[in-house]
Amino acid sequence: MSDRVTALVTGASRGIGASVAQALVAAGFYVVGTATSESGAEQISAALGDDGFGLVLKLQDSESIAGAFAQIKDRVAMPLVLVNNAGITKDNLLLRMSDAQWSEVIDTNLNGAFRVTKPILRGMLKARWGRVINMGSVVGRMGNPGQGNYVASKAGLEGFTRSLALEVASRGVTVNAVAPGFIATDMTESLTEEQSAMMMARIPLGRMGNVEEIAATVAFLASENAGYITGQTLQVNGGLHFT
Ligand code: NAP
Repeated sequence: MSDRVTALVTGASRGIGASVAQALVAAGFYVVGTATSESGAEQISAALGDDGFGLVLKLQDSESIAGAFAQIKDRVAMPLVLVNNAGITKDNLLLRMSDAQWSEVIDTNLNGAFRVTKPILRGMLKARWGRVINMGSVVGRMGNPGQGNYVASKAGLEGFTRSLALEVASRGVTVNAVAPGFIATDMTESLTEEQSAMMMARIPLGRMGNVEEIAATVAFLASENAGYITGQTLQVNGGLHFT
């Protein structure tokens, strides 16, 4: 068993989560990363080597979450850093949005964070130290046409962040969110050229962000240096939106 503090990163097989996992390893944590498939989990294990491993975890499936936690308990100390990173989009204008599109996004992005955080929190409270970092989005504050479900999930995560921060602050556990702007990953690749061009024109720094810039922010929030920050959402968006 590693003597390093364990950090759990959901959705670590690609994009922002994969970079967060590497940044946390560089910061000295032992990292457990999750994917929705065995092959994704194996890929994470290969990428982390001696610094962690990958597991299958599906946010919409409580049994899968319980199974992942059982494996974590068997192999390492329960995580004192949790990065609720995994998330999905199923875009549609509201008038065309199906119940399934609405529910899947809320169930994965928001309910999923609840399902993962609740069982992990106990260990943090006992240790009197912990870091919960939720992956929001700039659109959680801006709104975005065609993303009512996603925006609701991300705005919900920010509210969850603030409430939980108040519940656990006295036990040395901080709870914050990171709200990325427009970051180059598989998620943004699905945008049309027109959507991308429109977004780029609105970014004062004139470029998309990269995954390392989000990962560095998460690593900061997980560090001792961020010990006096809680209940906040750090915006990393190239100036696209202030608040
Ligand atoms: P991505 O490249 O699409 O990767 C998504 C990750 O989430 C993958 O590891 C995926 O695992 C996992 N995942 C998907 N569905 C899941 C489920 N049902 N249960 C558990 N894990 C699941 O996404 P990304 O762009 O890196 O985004 C990561 C986070 O940042 C998300 O919360 C997203 O909303 C947020 N964000 C992204 C941007 C952006 O511009 N990219 C902007 C703002 C916020 P598999 O590989 O197994 O599918």
